[in-house]
Amino acid sequence: MDFNLINFSTGNVKQPESDQTPQHVKVLILGSGPAGLAAALYAARAELHPIVLTGTEFGGQVSLTYTVENYPGFPDGIGGSQLIELFQKQAEKFGAVIEFDRATGVDLTKRPFVIQTDNRTISADSLIITTGATPRYLDIPGERELTGRGVSYCATCDGWFFKEKDVVVVGGGDSALEEGLFLTRYAKSVTIIHRRDSLRAGAILQNRAMNHPKIRFIWNTVVTEVVGEDAVKTIKIKNVITNEVSDHKTDGVFIFIGHSPNTQLFEGKLEMSQDRYLIVDHLMKTSVPGVFAAGEVGDSHFKQVITSAGMGAAAAISANHFLEQEEI
Ligand code: NAP
Repeated sequence: MDFNLINFSTGNVKQPESDQTPQHVKVLILGSGPAGLAAALYAARAELHPIVLTGTEFGGQVSLTYTVENYPGFPDGIGGSQLIELFQKQAEKFGAVIEFDRATGVDLTKRPFVIQTDNRTISADSLIITTGATPRYLDIPGERELTGRGVSYCATCDGWFFKEKDVVVVGGGDSALEEGLFLTRYAKSVTIIHRRDSLRAGAILQNRAMNHPKIRFIWNTVVTEVVGEDAVKTIKIKNVITNEVSDHKTDGVFIFIGHSPNTQLFEGKLEMSQDRYLIVDHLMKTSVPGVFAAGEVGDSHFKQVITSAGMGAAAAISANHFLEQEEI
């Protein structure tokens, strides 16, 4: 069977052909963010011929980040998608195969594991799960209806549409501030609405945001509704101390209130924490021997590009040890 290599950098993406004959691999990696591509690099260098299924978003969350300033080796920062492109090139250089495909079902009850994808069936001696996380929703009226019409979860993707407009950002973490700062390139004003009176974000971002002339904060406040027909017009906000409700006029609502791990495929198959992160030990082992997890899918704490990449490398080393022990 011909495995179609993907050249994302030139946009020359080919889909694997539909084929019901199971393809067998030693290492299958689900997800193509920093954890997945670092795992691919290490597994490829161990000559395990890994296949990476990209999932729906090649590069994961970092590929939507305008600049990454805290990945070592890039003192001037590097674009998120550029960094992913370098990860991809390096993994492919050693023989990793990256495919634009998505796992839709897994059978982890026996080895080799069987993975159903959008296009075919793959059997794998070991599996490295790096499926990442998805932005959380506020779950308020108007949010879903107006997504793409003023409600957004990605400033890098949608910021351009808000040139000289007034936007709000919801959240008080690093993402809210980083994305809020990014939005100042386009927007006339950026109002950050946070449910408490102190920020979770790191000191550098706090200082930048607090001192930015286009940014202001509304504290102790939650958004209760997004209002508009074809586009966002106003939001309803509520002060959580006084319970006062008011309307706030805005053209856009950018929501950055954390992420939920992408673990639906593994419900009842792998041990998870209460908030549905995969439980991994320090060797990136999950509850099923031969299945490893890395990056945000198994990390509710650090969630950095560098820590995800480190976990990915560790998962591949552990997968290699596992295969050696099993004499595969
Ligand atoms: P986060 O750190 O979990 O912050 C989420 C923010 O949203 C918190 O301020 C939280 O409020 C607020 N929030 C949560 N649920 C809410 C709700 N229902 N309504 C209103 N507000 C709500 O998530 P994140 O900012 O996406 O960051 C995730 C991880 O990535 C973190 O570890 C972060 O350090 C990292 N990150 C790092 C960088 C960087 O280093 N440059 C950039 C982006 C992300 P409370 O504070 O009250 O809980």
